[in-house]
Amino acid sequence: MNTATHMLAAAAVYSCFPNQKPIGLTLALGSHFLLDAIPHYELKLPVQSFLFAATSLVLVTLAARRRDPGLLLAGLLGTLPDMLVLFLPQPLVIAVHKWSHSSVRIRDMRMLLPEAAAAVVLAGYLASKRTAAK
Ligand SMILES: [Zn+2]
Repeated sequence: MNTATHMLAAAAVYSCFPNQKPIGLTLALGSHFLLDAIPHYELKLPVQSFLFAATSLVLVTLAARRRDPGLLLAGLLGTLPDMLVLFLPQPLVIAVHKWSHSSVRIRDMRMLLPEAAAAVVLAGYLASKRTAAK
């Protein structure tokens, strides 16, 4: 799954638990493994890096607007497993990530369209929520 989808989905999951932030953050991290279980087209690192930067900016903006830094943290947790594989490729890290990752290799770039549509819907959902609950 691409980084933007991971980050936006994790932030959306977190948003569903405004009064139970530890649960929201835990599920945000867990969303990574659920999404990776879906067969998907793998983007190359430069594109993933751009999506990470762009999505981080979106989440920083939304987190500031909602006065909830947890929204950004949730997004980062949503992509943490991929970051660990990239920057700390130890056997345990790789095994945990591989545990849920789909082994089906999608080679048709058109399969990015449903994922992009999901990212747009998730961004719209996040933008439509104005404030975090206390
Ligand atoms: Zn992953």
